[in-house]
Amino acid sequence: MATITLNRPEAQNSLNMQLLEEGYAALTDAQEDPSVRVLVITAKGKSFCSGADLKMVNSWNKNGEVDKEAEKAFHKAADAMFEAIKNCKKPIIAAVNGFAIAGGWKFGDEEFFDVIRRIVSCEMGMFDSSPHESFLFVCDRNPVKGNEGFDNYGLHIGRNIILLLDGKLDRSELYGPSMSIVAHEFFHNWNGEAIWPRTSEFLWFTEGATVYYSYQVLLDANIITPSQYEKQREAIIRRYSDNAHLDSIPIVRAANSDLSDKDLVNLLYDGGFLAAEALDRRIEQVSGGSARLIDVLNWMHENAQDGADVNVLAEAVSRTTGYDLSGFLAEMILDPAPDVLDHN
Ligand SMILES: [Zn+2]
Repeated sequence: MATITLNRPEAQNSLNMQLLEEGYAALTDAQEDPSVRVLVITAKGKSFCSGADLKMVNSWNKNGEVDKEAEKAFHKAADAMFEAIKNCKKPIIAAVNGFAIAGGWKFGDEEFFDVIRRIVSCEMGMFDSSPHESFLFVCDRNPVKGNEGFDNYGLHIGRNIILLLDGKLDRSELYGPSMSIVAHEFFHNWNGEAIWPRTSEFLWFTEGATVYYSYQVLLDANIITPSQYEKQREAIIRRYSDNAHLDSIPIVRAANSDLSDKDLVNLLYDGGFLAAEALDRRIEQVSGGSARLIDVLNWMHENAQDGADVNVLAEAVSRTTGYDLSGFLAEMILDPAPDVLDHN
């Protein structure tokens, strides 16, 4: 048996080049070593893996110029490691803190693929073009449990979408808000990757609009009902209204923080959701119903190759609607608890 340990606990085991290259080498060695019959992948510290190393991603951006070579090299290394996992001829067990995790859902793969297909075709339909020709979904049960863990955890790197779903997920939840994790990660192909945030300050939009659309997509694809949508929205508003930082920290500052406490993370995602919703409504209003936020995203996808920030967003809004909403945008993201967000 060979054990591969993700060993960057200080960075929540986020993926950087070293981890990907060493992970790939360890997987290849284990695959070729005849004495190894089973592989165990585990992780040190509290998190199994926290996605791409954001410090690294930010370091690719020098004075507004992205280091495309570094970005390409990272995606290539990530693809190589995930393909090595996918193609490994030996059984792989994911284990955290001594618990070995095996497969086994309360629903069939086909049902799950059906939900994924509906989400994928809905989102492809929202955009005029796709950043990738093919996508790889990797799904497993989430080994991280308890207060430190997430029930459902998603990760998006290049064309790869990794989903760690709650092992207790049942068929009723397969057609429910839990699937927003799939819609969310897939939406990042556009908003997050193709339309990449130039600064962490802009994460309120990258995450907020993605959360907003992830529920819209579930509604449009008939995966959730309008009343389930309303319940999710109400839960977001309740959490936002109760946020400890609501009256002191605006969402750009939450986005630009180290997200060290849960309230900052919630302020970013929940405030971002409400900001995206408010912006969508305002765009619909000023354009007399002829434009929506998705049109703005399509404009950015076409035109914002150098990354996006609030100025690019304001330009995209004005190009799409003919109206200057930069004042509205500034108020929404620079004021704590701005009145323009409908959270009552
Ligand atoms: Zn996200």
